Amino acid sequence: MHLYNRVNKEELKQRLQEETFERKTISFYKYHYLENPQEFRDNIFRDWFPLDCFGRIYVAREGINAQMSVPEHHFEAFLQTLEKYEILQGIPIKYAIEDDGKSFYKLTIKVRPKLVADGLDDGAYDVTNVGKHLTGLEFHNYIGQENTVVVDMRNFYESEIGHFEGAICPEADTFREELEIVTDLLEDKKDKKILLYCTGGIRCEKASAYLKHNGFEDVNQLHGGVLEYARQIKATDLQPKFIGKNFVFDERMGESVNGEIISHCHQCGKPCDTHTNCANNSCHLLFIQCDECREKYDGCCTPECTEEKAGHHHAVQNRYIFGNSRKYRKSLALVRAEKKSEAPISK
Ligand SMILES: [Zn+2]
Ligand SMILES: [Zn+2]
Repeated sequence: MHLYNRVNKEELKQRLQEETFERKTISFYKYHYLENPQEFRDNIFRDWFPLDCFGRIYVAREGINAQMSVPEHHFEAFLQTLEKYEILQGIPIKYAIEDDGKSFYKLTIKVRPKLVADGLDDGAYDVTNVGKHLTGLEFHNYIGQENTVVVDMRNFYESEIGHFEGAICPEADTFREELEIVTDLLEDKKDKKILLYCTGGIRCEKASAYLKHNGFEDVNQLHGGVLEYARQIKATDLQPKFIGKNFVFDERMGESVNGEIISHCHQCGKPCDTHTNCANNSCHLLFIQCDECREKYDGCCTPECTEEKAGHHHAVQNRYIFGNSRKYRKSLALVRAEKKSEAPISK
């Protein structure tokens, strides 16, 4: 058995469309020391590939982070494989709220140096000294109270399309940058109740430990992230305090939490929260594009990319990788989302 996928993308997508069974989209993570990440990676690939599991899974010495879809008829068998590994025993699993089961079309398991790249040396701070975990409802109740500060620990391209009311949404392109910016911004707020959140909770484990290391005392984090918050709030009559869409790293690119659109097309400026990757393969920039602009620019981020995609070999000046949409917007002076002025960064 091959330990990697050998089939091309188009065929895999075709197969997914033709499936006659249902899938569950799930996610889970755990910080847990792994002696041999590569061996563990190969073992779970052997377990999950025959069960037709798809997804994007990262394994590192510090643990595992998984977003995946599992066929319903194999779900029990999948759960049984978890019992084989100490790291996976009893691991809390989160279920997606908007689930058409088409979130992934292949199984990708990668070994990485770290689960969440913080740019810091091992041992620079105690990653196990984490902040207090709050349930979705606890977090909900603290928002808007006096002496609290809500901080979005995700990148700007994520918070741009959706965030909690009144949250600080730093213009960061990476988690590493985010840690630096947040520590600076909160410098005079060490006595406040800090409320951190991210997509599924994994980044806040590190961020909360980092802030505590830097002298913050009342550090709290949304357990299970926005994904879990959305699930919990849906089961109540409460009005969500998260506005817009929760960006997720799969084919769906996001799930709406309260139905509002708070961001804008980066090309024409009209309300839009659909992320796309530039269709020019040598660019592949992640940005927000409406249907009309998609048509006008043939799915590309700039006229230059449209031309290059069409085979005209223009040198593209602004080639940024995934996540650098902030620099992209600045450098090209495109229509900017109005949202930035709403984030109380300087308060
Ligand atoms: Zn547009
Ligand atoms: Zn482009």
